Amino acid sequence: MKEFDLIHRYILSGGYIRKDVVLGIGDDAAITRVPEGQRLVVTTDTLVEGVHFLANTPASAVAHKMLAVNLSDLAAMGAEPAWVNLSLSLPRHLDESWVESFFSTLNSLTHYYGVQLIGGDTVAGALSVTVTAMGFTPEKIALTRSGAKPGDWLYVSGTLGDAGAGLQLLMRELTATPEDYEFLTHRHYCPTPQVALGTALRRLATACIDISDGLLADLSHLLQASEVGASVQVDRLPLSAALKRSLPMPQALTMAMTAGDDYELLFTVAEEQKGSLETLLSSTNVPVTCIGQLNGVSGKLELKHFNNSYPLPSSLGYEHRF
Ligand code: ADP
Ligand code: MG
Repeated sequence: MKEFDLIHRYILSGGYIRKDVVLGIGDDAAITRVPEGQRLVVTTDTLVEGVHFLANTPASAVAHKMLAVNLSDLAAMGAEPAWVNLSLSLPRHLDESWVESFFSTLNSLTHYYGVQLIGGDTVAGALSVTVTAMGFTPEKIALTRSGAKPGDWLYVSGTLGDAGAGLQLLMRELTATPEDYEFLTHRHYCPTPQVALGTALRRLATACIDISDGLLADLSHLLQASEVGASVQVDRLPLSAALKRSLPMPQALTMAMTAGDDYELLFTVAEEQKGSLETLLSSTNVPVTCIGQLNGVSGKLELKHFNNSYPLPSSLGYEHRF
């Protein structure tokens, strides 16, 4: 592709426009307004071909996942998304239809989530995408990993393990019916960031994290940050019908506990707030499941299957090796 003229053309057309952007793409930097009484929440995630997505992943799936993983981080902080910056590293041989499909998906998602692309950078290199997402949270209300207390209840949104099964299907390590293949690979390619749930949890949850590395790995991060322990009821983990049909139960549970990329929210709620949570959930259509309870044994994670103890998997989730 000749220089990045084309890319600049795609970047400049069709995305969502917000009133709080004083100066968007085109100058050396963007200028925006943070509303009175709000704080700016900023997060960055990079996806590299061959590490975070398979080679030959459709361009629209790369765009979708890239935005979703960043908005999921904002959701986990209870922040309302506003602006995104995009750094693209694109191989020279990439064809124009890839770029067109990438920006067509990105632009429609900016409309869906009400976020504006306000800048970025474009370079030639191995395929990788980096997004910095920015959002708002009211002053004095921050949803972090560190506020959980012994006795709080542990909840998770959606279903777990679908993205992991989707990845195995794409790698031909697993087979499924055409419908289940479609559902599970879609969950892998196009995770749904729980944006509305995240902001709704601001005054309700004591701590929150999004599940990117795997339930148990991310739960461990929350336990460490909050200096508490947890008992998780493995029998209560929410599993999709597609996952249950595609894997025998023990493997489905391991997938739900250790596979990454689900981008569901894992959060804790004090006993006194359980009723308010139920009221909130009855007015939304996001499924949420109580999967356990916290205790005072700092950092300790125990699994239970009904009344029996259940072994911890040998690996809790995904970790990058350097
Ligand atoms: P500079 O050399 O001043 O950084 P660039 O030519 O890199 O300028 O970028 C020109 C404008 O296009 C800037 O406003 C920049 O933020 C924007 N831009 C470049 N690449 C991207 C991208 N991948 N996504 C969004 N905006 C981009
Ligand atoms: Mg630049």
